[in-house]
Amino acid sequence: MNLILLGAPGAGKGTQAKRLEERLGLPQVSTGDMLRAAVREGTRLGLEAKGFMDRGELVPDSVVIGVAVERIARPDAKNGFVLDGFPRTLPQARGLEEMTGGDSRGFVVFDFEVPRGELVRRLSGRRWCPACQSTFHLESDPPKRTGVCDVDGVALVQRHDDEESVIAERLREYDARTFPLIEHYRTRAQMVPIDGNRPKDVVFQELLGAVEVHA
Ligand code: AMP
Repeated sequence: MNLILLGAPGAGKGTQAKRLEERLGLPQVSTGDMLRAAVREGTRLGLEAKGFMDRGELVPDSVVIGVAVERIARPDAKNGFVLDGFPRTLPQARGLEEMTGGDSRGFVVFDFEVPRGELVRRLSGRRWCPACQSTFHLESDPPKRTGVCDVDGVALVQRHDDEESVIAERLREYDARTFPLIEHYRTRAQMVPIDGNRPKDVVFQELLGAVEVHA
């Protein structure tokens, strides 16, 4: 079962991918998390990706496709995966098709729809645990102790690319390069539009229901 979570930054892909991973036993494959880990570790990949990420631009396809191919080839992904933030461009979608035997008919693509103002509100108030990647929101989902992760007690930070000037660029990239994927998948995969402007638990139940029907 291969699930793709598509949607703008802040639409809730990461949150739902984590829950789907726990419930379905399929690994969450987040290119964003993998790239951030590479930046933290100072690897060659991290050095290559950092400038793009800091500016809110997409990392070049050749780099990201390599990361995704390597991850999907691992044994834990042999029964499927939950793709979170990949693919984000048409060449990446084609790269994914090549990796998985040339077609995407078996994919279930969830398209998360959230109004622009709400995306900006979520991203600008988001705080993130650099150790376990959990996210919180200053107003709508604060941690139990201010500034500290509920899971592991590590100090929360604001991701540099969640600062307002960078958010604008990320949304521009989404409009120009990721949005066209909706059209791409409409005829090639099972597309399920998801109203992401609802409480997390409601969205999760809808995703589980759709998985039963489509996967
Ligand atoms: P995310 O955490 O998914 O919002 O990703 C954070 C940043 O990592 C993005 O703004 C991009 O710079 C980079 N990134 C993550 N996934 C991709 C991808 N599939 N293609 C290109 N860049 C990516």
